[in-house]
Amino acid sequence: MKKIQMVDLKGQYEKIKDTVNSSVLEVIDTTAFINGPEVHSFQKELEDYLGVKNVIPCANGTDALQIAMMGLDLKPGDEVITADFTFAATVEVIALLQLTPVLVDVEPDTFNFDPEAIKRAITPKTKAIVPVHLFGQTANMDAIMEIAQEHNLYVIEDNAQAIGANYHFKDGSTKKAGVIGDVASTSFFPSKNLGCYGDGGAIFTNNDQLAHTIRGIVNHGMYERYHHDVVGVNSRLDSIQAAVLRAKLPKLNKYNQARQEAANKYSKAFENFEQITTPFTAGEKDTHVYHQYTIKIADGKRDALAKHLGEKGIPFGIYYPIPLHSQKAYRDDRYREEDFPVTNQLVKEVISLPMHTELDDEQIDYITSTIKEFLKK
Ligand SMILES: *Cc1c(COP(=O)(O)O)cnc(C)c1O
Repeated sequence: MKKIQMVDLKGQYEKIKDTVNSSVLEVIDTTAFINGPEVHSFQKELEDYLGVKNVIPCANGTDALQIAMMGLDLKPGDEVITADFTFAATVEVIALLQLTPVLVDVEPDTFNFDPEAIKRAITPKTKAIVPVHLFGQTANMDAIMEIAQEHNLYVIEDNAQAIGANYHFKDGSTKKAGVIGDVASTSFFPSKNLGCYGDGGAIFTNNDQLAHTIRGIVNHGMYERYHHDVVGVNSRLDSIQAAVLRAKLPKLNKYNQARQEAANKYSKAFENFEQITTPFTAGEKDTHVYHQYTIKIADGKRDALAKHLGEKGIPFGIYYPIPLHSQKAYRDDRYREEDFPVTNQLVKEVISLPMHTELDDEQIDYITSTIKEFLKK
């Protein structure tokens, strides 16, 4: 059996090596390292793929979130609602911009925003909601957009984990995750569903005015050379990363399918196994692109299982072990433990199994049988 890895970047690279190598070498040969034609072509290709009017590439997914928020007219002290159960980047940029993060609980099945918890958190100061499509499962955008419209709030989708996922609206229409709210961010960190070979990120929006504002912000607040109209940042996707992404974008649907197939095999193996709750897929199967395959382990056995997997050479991840409201940097007197029953429980129960495009049946069998044998005891 091939050694099991949490993410097998090497195996994936072997299959696209010729294309990637030649396009990377071409960038080096032309020396157009920054804002070269590769970046522009990738931007256009991603716009077509997503069905969005504007993609603005930038340096990483955290910058993308920050810049998306800088582009909106938000003032220090404005409240921005986001999920308690997510990666810290989301809440970090809210705090950095001197906005007030308001953390709310999630749903036990999708691990995403609980719309009722959002409603309870809204105050006259609330200006924006940041849904995170966690682990690749799209959040309940029907409910979120409805709440946003009713209260006149911006919606900023953190799409770092769900690029390529389709959201199916109640009315039967479909959109890609990340093109539903006012603006969205994504990350091309190597292990993400569309990853480059270093750091990268992008912002998406259908709003041309906002796109114009953001294009200036990523470039030192310049709309005309050496005229700085707003305080901006320096955040660029470099041409070598764009070349890698151009080689991988045409394969994104296939990559996501490979993840979905691996996820289905895991879930089938765990079927009717009481101590394991497999990931919930809301509606159509393609709403989940399995950035992570995350299960819940009952009876307080999660940590013992994790230890056992380590001994058996099976990598795993605990995403995330601590609720954001309990993190030292983001604690706040107004949070009460009883407001976060689901997150407080999830942090004790979740475990993410190896998930990538190169998992084979032998590896999946070994992983699932090891887990079942351990839990049976
Ligand atoms: C990865 C990730 C980010 C940050 O992306 P970077 O490119 O590492 O800055 C932000 N939000 C979520 C949900 C992520 O998974």
